[in-house]
Amino acid sequence: MKTEAVMFDQYGGPEVLTRTDVELPAPGPGEVMLRVLAVAVNHLDADLRGGVSRMPLRLPHVLGREVVGVVEQVGPGVVDRRPGDRVLALPNTPCGTCDRCLSGLANLCARADMPGVTRWGGYARHAVVSAHGLLEIGDLDPVVAAATPISFGTAWRTLYSIGRLAPGDWVLAPGAAGGLGHAVVQLAKLGGARVVGLVGDPAKADFVSSLGADAVLSTREHDWPATAREITGGAGFDVIVEHIGGEVFEAALGTLAPTGRLIVGGGHAGEHPRLDLIQTFRNEYELRGSRSQRPDEIARVLDLVATGRLAPRVDVVLPLADAARAHQAMADRRVLGKQVITP
Ligand SMILES: [Zn+2]
Repeated sequence: MKTEAVMFDQYGGPEVLTRTDVELPAPGPGEVMLRVLAVAVNHLDADLRGGVSRMPLRLPHVLGREVVGVVEQVGPGVVDRRPGDRVLALPNTPCGTCDRCLSGLANLCARADMPGVTRWGGYARHAVVSAHGLLEIGDLDPVVAAATPISFGTAWRTLYSIGRLAPGDWVLAPGAAGGLGHAVVQLAKLGGARVVGLVGDPAKADFVSSLGADAVLSTREHDWPATAREITGGAGFDVIVEHIGGEVFEAALGTLAPTGRLIVGGGHAGEHPRLDLIQTFRNEYELRGSRSQRPDEIARVLDLVATGRLAPRVDVVLPLADAARAHQAMADRRVLGKQVITP
């Protein structure tokens, strides 16, 4: 079947994204074809497009990790889905049978089915996805549903599954105006924590305050770590969700309370920061990584969004033809919350 997609056949800047007609195969066993209603834009999309993601792709490729759509066709053997179902495709559908999947680490499954990475994604009018990784969205706005799984699922994983966040804890949220950061602020407040948002551009502070942050600091302020520590009454932070890297990582580490948890989920600003070992062991800091999300973590945040307790903020909704514009906005750090494409 012919459909319209944005694809790229060489790595490069946003300009390599090209709108074109592509041939989409019919859904195979265990697959469904969706008519795409909305697809969210992610930093990983830009890394994949630029060829710096350390994930192998077969070109040409269609991006799009957070896909929401209506089932149009079901493949052989699919009995629990039917045309007309409104669903969110999981960004990572675990295989369900490997050692990691069977030991509660489905987010680390090496055989995960990943729309926009291991198969063509949702920057298209139609997408074929695994029938095993679909969550019903009911009457939830598809744009809001698409803006949920990666940001809020990751925020849940870092704050609660890994960070053991408790009411009254102090949380530092670097990159607080971005997709992940804006989810961290909201989810931490929902859990009764106190949150300091950290932004680069001070013009983003009002946005972060509107999410419920108790205070917002800019990395351009002189000695922001000292101010941050003061705000916590000198105690320091219990949990830091760090995904900036470089100098922000180095400075943030020193703002942890003894036994505090710094959880890393990215590092564009410097993937090899200096780590102060003495500070780390004398304070019994915990450093952990966090990778993607388990299906149950995404189901949980989707439910919180559907019941109005979390509100993904969508900066812009764009047509398929403007995918490159969305990527440029990310490169320019102009995005507040999420960008969503409605093909
Ligand atoms: Zn697996």
